Amino acid sequence: MPVIALIGAQWGDEGKGHIADKLAAESSIVARYNGGDNAGHTITVGETLVRTHLIPAGAFHPRSTCVLGAGMVINLRSLAREVDELNRLGANLNSDRLKIDPAAHLLLPGHVALDGAGESRLGRDAIGTTRRGIGPAYTDKAARIGLRAGLMANAGAFAEAVGTHIEQANARLTRDFDQPPLDADTIVAEYAALAARFALHLADTTTLIHAALERGETVLAEGAQGTLLDLDHGTYPFVTSSSTITGGVLTALGVGPKHVTRVIGVAKAFCSRVGAGPFPTELRDALGDRLRGTGANPWDEFGSTTGRPRRTGWLDLVALKYAARINGLTELVLTKLDILIGIDPLPVCVAYAFRGEPATDFPGDTATLGGCAPIYTDLPGWHDDITAARRIDDLPQAARAYIETIEAFTGIPISHISIGPDRSQIFTR
Ligand code: GDP
Repeated sequence: MPVIALIGAQWGDEGKGHIADKLAAESSIVARYNGGDNAGHTITVGETLVRTHLIPAGAFHPRSTCVLGAGMVINLRSLAREVDELNRLGANLNSDRLKIDPAAHLLLPGHVALDGAGESRLGRDAIGTTRRGIGPAYTDKAARIGLRAGLMANAGAFAEAVGTHIEQANARLTRDFDQPPLDADTIVAEYAALAARFALHLADTTTLIHAALERGETVLAEGAQGTLLDLDHGTYPFVTSSSTITGGVLTALGVGPKHVTRVIGVAKAFCSRVGAGPFPTELRDALGDRLRGTGANPWDEFGSTTGRPRRTGWLDLVALKYAARINGLTELVLTKLDILIGIDPLPVCVAYAFRGEPATDFPGDTATLGGCAPIYTDLPGWHDDITAARRIDDLPQAARAYIETIEAFTGIPISHISIGPDRSQIFTR
């Protein structure tokens, strides 16, 4: 049975939580494979809206095991806060239900402090990170000086490693950034308690995943951020520090390509991007404001982790086709179609112009992308309220034409359409 990879097909914030929740109900394991607490889904539990940052969508499906996979960087402070909150709401994330791979890296206070100091120093050239320490944690991983989750099982060695981390971070904070040092003793004591708590959750998750596959169960690999923020194939350097694409599922969870039989890309019916970097279809006018919303609704385009307003723009089909290619998408989920109600016409980007020449492929080089102007086709909009639609035939002709244009351009079928935040507002094609 398959691994289903669920991947953001744009710049993140595509509305993955909705479909992740639906698929999690059918999966015995739901595994996050990349990133850290810079991500986030909104889950509705009864009347309560809960934001998750580290825990995958399986939390409220009692039969799913939640896995934090080897490709992640885990902030134990955030994890403790999140697990406590979800458990208060009935998630019961005990050590049987939440598993942490020993090879996942721990994101420590020095990483957070260095991320903030680094971004502040860059000023107007900042990458626009969430300042959660993600970049510095992955830097330590690549430099082979990171602290892996497995060390939590060895209290003495763990305390020593946290002490060394703080010492090294303090040297840089004081010397390079003129910042006050962190208090090593307090942090070592705090992390000893966190490690004692979460050591109980350590498990070789690759073995767990393969055992589930052999039993014929479904494993959901839940991505964070999106394809265009991938460290290798995104718009470097305006990217996240992990592998967000299908390739990242394989390395992080320890599964081979033959196991991944469904690769689902989630795309919004328009585009948004948080942080800096090229964004060819960006709107800097009233229509951009309209796509963003005012911030009054939970689905408005404001950063879920930072609250920052997101940049918004028209749907970029060139970029989406690129995402389809590099992930090997087998299907697409289209979200937030309701946000386009009443906008007529609806431009979609079908090519770029670079130095006066048309380009139909997404450029691998970020500077080239920055010089690309969008070439649009105008599609007819629709004015009817579509938020009560429960099947494709309930949508107006113009909305169906919008969906078919995306399918024809990318060559990928759209399997689900989301027309509102409620669990009932997503339907299968
Ligand atoms: P993620 O970062 O990709 O996981 O995004 P989330 O799943 O957290 O979705 C962001 C917000 O959009 C949440 O408040 C969702 O409830 C909301 N949302 C998801 N799909 C739709 C949709 O089709 N229409 C509207 N209006 N809101 C949606």
